[in-house]
Amino acid sequence: MQGVVVLGATGSIGDSTLDVIARHPDKYRVVALSAHSNAEKLLALCLQFFPQQAVLVEEGKSQWLRAELKAAGSQTELLTGAKALEDIAAHPDARQVMAAIVGAAGLLPTLAAVRAGKRVLLANKEALVMSGELFMDEVARHGAELLPIDSEHNAIFQSLPFACQQGDHYRHHGVSQILLTGSGGPFRTRDLASFGAITPAQAVAHPNWSMGQKISVDSATMMNKGLEFIEARWLFDCAVDDIQVVLHPQSIIHSMVRYSDGSVLAQMGNPDMRTPIAHAMAYPERIDAGVEPLDFFSLGQFSFDQPDPARYPCLYLAINACRLGQGATTVLNAANEVAVDAFLKGRLPFTGIAGLVEQSLDTLAHKTARDLRSILELDQEARHYAERLLPC
Ligand code: NAD
Ligand code: MG
Repeated sequence: MQGVVVLGATGSIGDSTLDVIARHPDKYRVVALSAHSNAEKLLALCLQFFPQQAVLVEEGKSQWLRAELKAAGSQTELLTGAKALEDIAAHPDARQVMAAIVGAAGLLPTLAAVRAGKRVLLANKEALVMSGELFMDEVARHGAELLPIDSEHNAIFQSLPFACQQGDHYRHHGVSQILLTGSGGPFRTRDLASFGAITPAQAVAHPNWSMGQKISVDSATMMNKGLEFIEARWLFDCAVDDIQVVLHPQSIIHSMVRYSDGSVLAQMGNPDMRTPIAHAMAYPERIDAGVEPLDFFSLGQFSFDQPDPARYPCLYLAINACRLGQGATTVLNAANEVAVDAFLKGRLPFTGIAGLVEQSLDTLAHKTARDLRSILELDQEARHYAERLLPC
């Protein structure tokens, strides 16, 4: 029986993770759960999964939640505040930690799980975008086990030779290229001239995946693929020129690995995050994830294309930032979080997202950020800079 902590339990990845856990009560038990502010959902999860501890980051409804837990006879201890996330991430009874907080807020709790030597199930790609080099150094130093949850990186991991899954470099095992696939999002065929009129509701309606709001907007701009490019660079120690982005609108192939003998290995499946979650939780074994088997006779055709820079400027901003280094990717991530939030609140047009990120990079990308303190300072500086650029 393995103890699991779910950071970001009330989100989309949190839902999928708890669904997999609920299918295997003989294998996994929930040690702790976290939520930002959704006290009602956290209450329901505590009563269903009986965690030892739960964290509600925003204190507003904590008194209400504590009273409800007590009235229901729950033994769950309720903690509040962001620091408590780091405490549950290092909980001694947990073997695995699902890092599924969205954005930069996930960095410190995810690092706490790494430093406690856990098996870290990494969904929070922003942590790696901000601190890739430092993060990977900490994984090695503390003997943590890092398994990718992002479907593309999980597909790459599965398509690599076993020796590479255990830490060998792909170049020593006949791998010549990493092919990172992406659907192109909801606006792949939309008239470019109408991009200024895109609404938040249209942007979050992804054709293949059901996800949180921020990653859905990132998928529409393809910043998500850019963040994933940087994520792949660090997870697999890739040279930037070894990664190629391939549009694959059907989202059935989740990514591929090209070998020097001409072979290409792909991982396929229905677009359902329970597959990579179950893979990473049970690795190297396989367990039922509750995912519908892929029916090849009803799939139709697969197609592939190159991403157009005019349609997806954010993708190319991210690839450039990846070449520049950790300071640039920290700025990219911070400015993008500000831009996406402003777009969702109606303060910035969809077409303004790339411009805000580009201007922030132009001013701040030269800054270096090697240690955690300077990364967090640069993240704050970039946020303030991007916020000042927003229209009033
Ligand atoms: P979501 O918005 O559905 O959920 C986010 C979770 O983070 C919630 O539990 C929320 O309470 C918590 N949270 C938000 N802000 C917080 C803060 N400041 N402090 C603490 N907790 C906070 O997002 P999601 O779609 O589940 O995505 C989570 C992460 O997983 C993101 O980094 C995303 O890029 C990554 N990811 C998601 C998917 C997907 O299919 N949803 C796929 C690949 C990767
Ligand atoms: Mg992905």
